Amino acid sequence: MTTTPDELVFAPSPEFTAQANVGAGEHARAAADPEAFWAEQARRLQWDEPFHTVFDGSTLPTAQWFTGGRLNVAVNCVDRHVAAGRGDKVALHWEGEPGDSRTITYAQLQDEVCRLANALEELGVGHGDRVVLYLPVLPETIVATMACARIGAVVSLVFGGFSAEALRFRVEDTGAKLLICTDGQFRRGTAVAVKGAADAAVEGLSHVEHVLVLRRTGEQTPDVPWTPGRDVWWHELVDRQPVEHTAPSFDAENPLFIIYTSGTTGRPKGLVHTSGGYLTHTSWSHWAVFDVKDDDVYWCQADLAWVTAHSYEMYGPLSNGVTQVIYEGSPLTPHPGRHFEVIEKYGVTIYYTAPTLVRTFMKHGPELPARFDLSSLRLLGSVGEAINPEAWLWLHRNVGGGRCPIVDTWWQSETGAAVVAPLPGVTPLKPGSGTVPLPGLSATVVDEAGNETAPGETGVIVITKPWPGMARTVWRDHARFVKSYWEPYAAQGYYLAGDAATKDADGYIWIGGRIDDVLNVSGHRLSSIELESALVSHPRVAEAAVVGAPDDTTGQRIVAFVITRGEGTDGDLAEELRAHVAHQIGPVAKPRDVVVVPDLPKTRSGKIMRRLMADLTAGRGGGDVTSLQDETALAAVETAWAQYV
Ligand code: ATP
Ligand code: MG
Repeated sequence: MTTTPDELVFAPSPEFTAQANVGAGEHARAAADPEAFWAEQARRLQWDEPFHTVFDGSTLPTAQWFTGGRLNVAVNCVDRHVAAGRGDKVALHWEGEPGDSRTITYAQLQDEVCRLANALEELGVGHGDRVVLYLPVLPETIVATMACARIGAVVSLVFGGFSAEALRFRVEDTGAKLLICTDGQFRRGTAVAVKGAADAAVEGLSHVEHVLVLRRTGEQTPDVPWTPGRDVWWHELVDRQPVEHTAPSFDAENPLFIIYTSGTTGRPKGLVHTSGGYLTHTSWSHWAVFDVKDDDVYWCQADLAWVTAHSYEMYGPLSNGVTQVIYEGSPLTPHPGRHFEVIEKYGVTIYYTAPTLVRTFMKHGPELPARFDLSSLRLLGSVGEAINPEAWLWLHRNVGGGRCPIVDTWWQSETGAAVVAPLPGVTPLKPGSGTVPLPGLSATVVDEAGNETAPGETGVIVITKPWPGMARTVWRDHARFVKSYWEPYAAQGYYLAGDAATKDADGYIWIGGRIDDVLNVSGHRLSSIELESALVSHPRVAEAAVVGAPDDTTGQRIVAFVITRGEGTDGDLAEELRAHVAHQIGPVAKPRDVVVVPDLPKTRSGKIMRRLMADLTAGRGGGDVTSLQDETALAAVETAWAQYV
């Protein structure tokens, strides 16, 4: 079986290479002495006390990095730039969904962070206490994240679109002392009240002492439900605080935040990240992979609650003193070209997006981006799922004007920051592959026995050496941390990421989806992503999800759920797609069933939830749906399936 066609190679342009932050020798230099490499990257940060040991593996699988060192993450992300005379530089260009906007400099950000830090202390929140944020993409969300870091409180951001039930699980699991929320949120053009959901989430939880409420939608929700004594208005408490606040310094291993995984494969896990190692990995990789410069206008379009945003919309870019755009709303509100409009408005130079969104843009055709001036762009990024080569090429051509490198970054909540990703200007790109491990990171593809697989053979991706940004534990469930990630390759000391992958003859890594989503058809192992990419490369298919259904003869049979696009021919779609996939991959990969659906079930972060469709085809039910974006999508797939069988 061949992997995704790897003959398409985009070599870096000499112009990009000439100005790139990182040069060609970096992989080799880091490999020669990884600890020295990471120590050098750690010194990009401001330490109040220097570390005496770079790496301490005595407590593996929980490694310690930069032992002895003390720092304040918020000072590194904010104050440091002001102290260096760059306080007037714009930190955030915030664009609200209804079209309101604000511009905030680093000096202003510092004032706001200090005010909130004082306010949190007044509420009795201190070092080690947990604070949950249930907020949309607002400057205050970043202010709150930084204020927590400043006082040593452990922050956990929960997506503002989550239900009261999903929020409650996270508030309860963290044992939070404080919840910060808004009165309401804008969702696809309408103001929706959310304080009621926040109330329901904290009801009866005695560890929650206060709910701090930020006014966002205001006039639309005049009757905010209120519990006197517990509830506090942000503007009443925070606005009267002084802008002076002395930042303490914390141990390098001080917990910084708890992030719950997207829940693509099951119940979310609360990963704990610490300070020195996480910030080192995040800050350096942001600088190296996104090639950020002083005059860049950088935009990561993720919601702040996702790990993508933690590393590459908060801690990474702020620690590098970058000017960012952040956008509150839905990418399709009020029109599908909204993102391109924002890129044009702010002259965005670096745009970090997700495959799901690219496929959505593709449904609208190249005319959509063509209506906007996107000439400011110089680099594009992708994260969240494997990007189908077809989507990569579309993005490259129609958004990047053929001139922008695309950095496809493979990483997870658990890894803290990017692991497999190109260095733009250095690494030749292959559409659909995250390319090779970054300098200082050791990842490879192995079989069940832990041996490296032959080129093109499906295995699993493992990280073979500890790295600074690695999660240290699952909050209050260390046993799950050890069992999920470390036990399977305990003999080798490898970290099991949970994704299937292949390596090609050039050593490029191709992610093939989750291990559980690998299909076994008559003894052939096929990756869901590879099959989906073949389907998406057909002109009549906009999106596809492939799962294996139980089959008496072949073990599994391939079921393809597809969203169609364009006019297409009148021919039999299923037959056309079978022929197309047979041509692209091989006859064994032909989907037995092709089910046309209007939508696919996805997580709130836009990832396809294949397990729900696999459950459906196997006649199982009852999978965890707390992370599901839109229940109507699942219902529509259920209906289409019922009609099909
Ligand atoms: P859960 O662990 O609860 O199932 P999740 O894995 O979706 O949720 P995240 O940590 O947000 O939660 O996502 C990491 C996963 O996303 C990776 O393991 C991988 O499957 C996928 N992923 C992210 N970026 C890429 C990429 N560039 N290429 C391929 N897959 C990617
Ligand atoms: Mg995961």
